[in-house]
Amino acid sequence: MTGEDRVPGDPRDDAGDEAGGDPACWLARVCPDCGRVADRDPPTRCAGCGRPLLPA
Ligand SMILES: [Zn+2]
Repeated sequence: MTGEDRVPGDPRDDAGDEAGGDPACWLARVCPDCGRVADRDPPTRCAGCGRPLLPA
């Protein structure tokens, strides 16, 4: 650990590459029952209602 945690430059300067990302990435995390977005990629469970979230 040298304290070099930051990405060089302002992330907003980098728009077009990783900024924004693919909507499909987080759409898979949205619970169809309650609409809550899971904290991690499926397969996982909805933290709100416990419904299993499966990869598309
Ligand atoms: Zn849910």
